[in-house]
Amino acid sequence: MAEQTQISWTDSTFNPWWGCQRISPACDNCYAAALDHRTGGSYWETGNKPRAMSDANWKKPLRWHHEAQVHGNPRKVFCGSMCDVFDKNAPDGQRERLFELIRQTPMLQWQLLTKRPTNIEKYLPDDWGDGYDNVWLGVTVEDCKYGLPRIDVLKNIPARIRFLSVEPLLQDLGNINLTGIDWVIIGGESGPCSRPMSPEWVDNVMHQCRRQNVAVWFKQWGGNKKDKGGCLVHDAEIKQWPHTTG
Ligand code: SF4
Repeated sequence: MAEQTQISWTDSTFNPWWGCQRISPACDNCYAAALDHRTGGSYWETGNKPRAMSDANWKKPLRWHHEAQVHGNPRKVFCGSMCDVFDKNAPDGQRERLFELIRQTPMLQWQLLTKRPTNIEKYLPDDWGDGYDNVWLGVTVEDCKYGLPRIDVLKNIPARIRFLSVEPLLQDLGNINLTGIDWVIIGGESGPCSRPMSPEWVDNVMHQCRRQNVAVWFKQWGGNKKDKGGCLVHDAEIKQWPHTTG
């Protein structure tokens, strides 16, 4: 997948397979499904299984890892912009192949984000222990009904870094207990059907992150034109990394 990405909180994206099914309101305007449709695919249609990717695709992270070793610079890789890595419909053997790749690439910081955290424990490898040093585990939190319960599931899974992707933020989340969470990304929805994000909702999440000493990355306001809303909050860019990574 992408050598470079426009996603501000990572360096590259990698997809171990391609395809998914909608599961909650965050998926309503799924950009991946739209891209699949535009490129002639049907991997988001009900009942269709994701497709496996080529060996050439799988070799890319090995090259990124080699470059990171040569330059002494770890590289962040968001895994699953076109799938959900904890999807029960993953093509046979491909999730195991992914974890093997993760083990082979310690200079890559793998960011695994899911909307299916209740599947995580079942699909983690046997040697996961307290979590691989190079894996950040995250869940999407778009609303109270579907998003907030995912946080509680994530908190009970061992991981070196746990994060929340509060994107698209669709309503006020009220009080959130962020114990055990290292990093929160906040973003509004983009695209022609994007749903608006209230500044008060953003302030509420940011305020709680500050009070609970959790790093925040404000990605963008979103809107129906790219970059329309920018990424300033009260005239400032808020882009903090989880404390343990500096
Ligand atoms: S989980 Fe992600 S990839 Fe799957 S349908 Fe929802 S938004 Fe799209």
